[in-house]
Amino acid sequence: MNFKNKTVIVTGASRGIGRAIALRFGSLGANVVVNYSRNKEYADDVVQTIDSTGKRAVSILADVTSSSEVAQMIDLTLDEFGSIDILVNNAGITKDTLLLRMKESDWDSVIDTNLKGVFNCTKAVTRSMMRARKGSIINISSVIGLMGNAGQSNYAAAKAGIIGFSKSIARELAPRGIRVNVVAPGFIQTDMTKVLNESIKGEILDQIPLNRFGMPDDVARMVAFLASDMSSYITGQVINVDGGMMI
Ligand code: NAD
Repeated sequence: MNFKNKTVIVTGASRGIGRAIALRFGSLGANVVVNYSRNKEYADDVVQTIDSTGKRAVSILADVTSSSEVAQMIDLTLDEFGSIDILVNNAGITKDTLLLRMKESDWDSVIDTNLKGVFNCTKAVTRSMMRARKGSIINISSVIGLMGNAGQSNYAAAKAGIIGFSKSIARELAPRGIRVNVVAPGFIQTDMTKVLNESIKGEILDQIPLNRFGMPDDVARMVAFLASDMSSYITGQVINVDGGMMI
C-alpha cells in the first residue's frame, strides 16, 4: 500500500484510534490532516511524528458538530494539498448511562458528535471527491452499534445510524467512483476504554476469542486497507475489528 500524493483527513486524530490511523497513513506516504477539537498540543505531536519521517502533515482545528468549522477545514485542506482522497470519520464520544438516568443533553451530544459529525464531514468532502470521480470514506462505528449495550443507548443509536448512513451514501456515490465503508471496532485500548473498571474489562475479555484487547493500530491497518486500491471492489460494508467478539 502506498498513499504517495494522496491526502487523508482523519477526524479526532490527536489521540487513540484516530492518532494511530493518522500515523499509519503517514508511514504509508500520505499527506495527513490531523483534525482536533481541543488538544492542539497532542495534535501537533502527531504532526511532528509524521513530519519527522519526511512526510507532510498539518493539524486543523474543527469541531465536527459545526458545519461551518468543518467547511473551513475542507477549504484549508484543499488550499494546502489540492485534493482530498480519503476521509476517516473517527471523532467520537461516549456519555454512558441507563435510559432512565439519561439526560436529553447526553443524548444530543453523543448523536451530534458521533452521527451528525459524520454527516457534516462526509457532505463537505463529497463535492471535491465527486469532481475527482474518486475517493474513499471510512466511518468508524462500533460493535455496540450492531449488538447494543445496556447503558449505551445513545452511543449504540449513533453508531447504528452511521451504518445506515454509510450504506445509503455508498449507493449514492458508487456511480461517482467513491467508496464508503464502515469499521466496527470491538474493545480497543484507548483513553475511551481506560475508564472501565477491571471487573467489566475481565467480563469483556471473556467474550473475545482471540483473548486480547485490540490496539489502535489493529483498527488503523483495516482503515488503510479500505482506503487503498487493494479494496477497490468493496463498498457499503461493515468490517468488524474485534478479535472475534461478534462471531
Ligand atoms: P478517544 O476518546 O481516545 O478519541 C476520540 C477523539 O475524538 C479525541 O481525540 C477527541 O478529542 C475527538 N473528538 C471528540 N469530539 C470531537 C468533535 N466534536 N470534533 C472533533 N473531534 C472530536 O477515543 P477512541 O477510543 O480513540 O475512539 C475513536 C473512535 O473509535 C470513536 O468514534 C469511538 O466511538 C470508536 N470506537 C472506539 C472503541 C474503543 O474500544 N476504544 C470501540 C469501538 C469504536
